[in-house]
Amino acid sequence: MPIQISSDTLKDHLKRTFGFSQFRGEQEAIIQNTLQGNNSFVLMPTGAGKSLCYQLPAIVMPGTAIVISPLIALMKNQVDQMIAFGVNAQFLNSSLTRAEINRVKNEVLSGDVKLLYIAPESLNKQENLSFLQQANISFVAIDEAHCISEWGHDFRPEYRKIRAIIESVDEKLPIIALTATATPKVQLDIQKTLNLEDAKVFKSSFNRKNLYYEIRSKKDIDKQLIRYIKAHTGKAGIIYCLSRKRVEEIADLLHVNGIKALPYHAGLDPAVRMANQESFLNEEVEVMVATIAFGMGIDKPDVRFVIHYDAPKSLEGYYQETGRAGRDGLDGTCILFYTYDDILKLDKFNKDKAFSEKENAKLLLAEMVYYANLGVCRRKQLLNYFGEYLAENCGFCDNCLHPTPTFKAEREVVLVLKAVQETEEKFDAEHIADVLEGKINQYVQSYDHDKLSIFGAGKTVSWNAQAVEDDDDDDDEMEDEDEDNPIPKKPKIKKKSTKEQHSDDEKSPWISFIKQVTIHG
Ligand code: ADP
Ligand code: ZN
Repeated sequence: MPIQISSDTLKDHLKRTFGFSQFRGEQEAIIQNTLQGNNSFVLMPTGAGKSLCYQLPAIVMPGTAIVISPLIALMKNQVDQMIAFGVNAQFLNSSLTRAEINRVKNEVLSGDVKLLYIAPESLNKQENLSFLQQANISFVAIDEAHCISEWGHDFRPEYRKIRAIIESVDEKLPIIALTATATPKVQLDIQKTLNLEDAKVFKSSFNRKNLYYEIRSKKDIDKQLIRYIKAHTGKAGIIYCLSRKRVEEIADLLHVNGIKALPYHAGLDPAVRMANQESFLNEEVEVMVATIAFGMGIDKPDVRFVIHYDAPKSLEGYYQETGRAGRDGLDGTCILFYTYDDILKLDKFNKDKAFSEKENAKLLLAEMVYYANLGVCRRKQLLNYFGEYLAENCGFCDNCLHPTPTFKAEREVVLVLKAVQETEEKFDAEHIADVLEGKINQYVQSYDHDKLSIFGAGKTVSWNAQAVEDDDDDDDEMEDEDEDNPIPKKPKIKKKSTKEQHSDDEKSPWISFIKQVTIHG
């Protein structure tokens, strides 16, 4: 049933409950759309204020709003926050005892609860379905809606069933889906899977003008890291690493270098994790060294730098993580330490995945490689990835401010990608190099690759300015961070690295270059 509420009354609620005097961006239009009983699809970058778009209508509408949310920790944070604002909010997930579940359900049925957060797993349970059918529900919010898409960076199969469940509760319930991931492909997939093609789409710009993007070579990373942090003493920062082990190592390293840092990952005891998070929020420590388990739903406005110690699995993930810098609108610096070895490591982790999942993971990695290697304005590339076009170079990224010879390789990157494409992605770097250099040999001939348009197109490239790097990083284990289901890992025996040096001078420089820009073996 549509509800008429004037703009002034909404602002009143905004002020009274949340203490804000203005709506941000399209918040008000989004809220009105839900009040009208329509479906909404909200695409906004991290920190833009998505939560308010369902929290406020939940308060003013009769009944209980259902919020589907993927992380238990995130749910608890939001519920605590709402209760602090004087709003009755509750959650249902696997962390509750039977008695607690019954209490929550009774409160909802008696009409006292304004917001009920539910994990998708709990939503799928039959007993909860009949409970929801009895409850007076105002609307359904689907937070982190990209979890529904296999193309996204955080696919959760349980999200697939959401729409069917909502329909069996009440097919006329207004739905609001929200995400900070907005590549055109993921957006379409979300809309299709949630049957939200008719929803009004609210997409705000993903441009975070106050964030400076930079990529650095991973050479001497520890020295670079310490130097950077010491030059920014007193500033809050997050360092993302891929593995728990690396998180611990780096936290220790910073500690012995006199930097106030703590680790955070899903393998830590929950009490320790919580305490570390609190220390960071309360500014007792300056640096949080963390896996991607840290960040979702954590609202610290004055994070001044986000450093990626290891390459992330996708540009979407990267963008979300860097988005935690500069939420207060002041400058934030985002540095990614990049080496192609990290990409190979990540690729190795995908080897046991199902075919389509593996292909998608490869694609996400290829985008990452492309981003790291191109000399084009970083912001242009990132926004382009989110389907947004920036006419001018930003003037506030490493490529804009300090173009370096290492990154002046656009033409070469294009040649490599074309060659990989024309040879149908089936050949190794050595073969691709032969094709690019126009070398006739039996393999090239037997596949008719000497007849391709790309054959010999790379002959004229001069490699003097290219820094083709190699580093001697050790192997370690990356973990998927899932707060709800931390996966126990068995201890690993460390192998001594016996990696061969690329000392063979006769090798074409194309080979290592190809290995840098593709996920070719
Ligand atoms: P998102 O979910 O989009 O990442 P949040 O909902 O966590 O963002 O909001 C980010 C921050 O912005 C929070 O601290 C929130 O309280 C604040 N915020 C949201 N809306 C407003 C507003 N209208 N005015 C001022 N601050 C706001
Ligand atoms: Zn730029």
